[in-house]
Amino acid sequence: MSDEINIIEKAISHFTEELEARGLRKTPERFAILREIYSLGGHLDAEDLFLHMKNQEYRVSRATVYNTLELLVEVDLVKKQQFGNNITLFEKSLGYKQHDHLICTKCGKVIEFCDPRIQQTKSMVEELIDFEIAYHSLNIYGLCGDCRKK
Ligand SMILES: [Zn+2]
Ligand SMILES: [Zn+2]
Repeated sequence: MSDEINIIEKAISHFTEELEARGLRKTPERFAILREIYSLGGHLDAEDLFLHMKNQEYRVSRATVYNTLELLVEVDLVKKQQFGNNITLFEKSLGYKQHDHLICTKCGKVIEFCDPRIQQTKSMVEELIDFEIAYHSLNIYGLCGDCRKK
């Protein structure tokens, strides 16, 4: 089994347990939304996800997509990222690889980057200031290459 399929299977079984524990129905729509987020990968906007599912002939309402996303955030299967005042994107949290974000303020594009030196800085700061870091968030704003060409 490839890692990717393995992670999707794990996410599905975790979601099944959470739905049961909360007394919520295990509807196919809820699982379809989870599958899409995990198979598409990257950073997704709720509206884009809804349109994507509609195009694939899934019978889901906008409300179901939005509510399911919130539920998935609550059970830690999806991360909700707020970029600036008006960009909210979702990304899978199982099999999540540490990365930070570059956000284009013109087109809203989000680019991932990973720099191991950030991890080193965290370790150094923890020692220097006696602080236990739980998580970090680093978002860098500017203009992407495409937008600068225009
Ligand atoms: Zn741009
Ligand atoms: Zn990300």
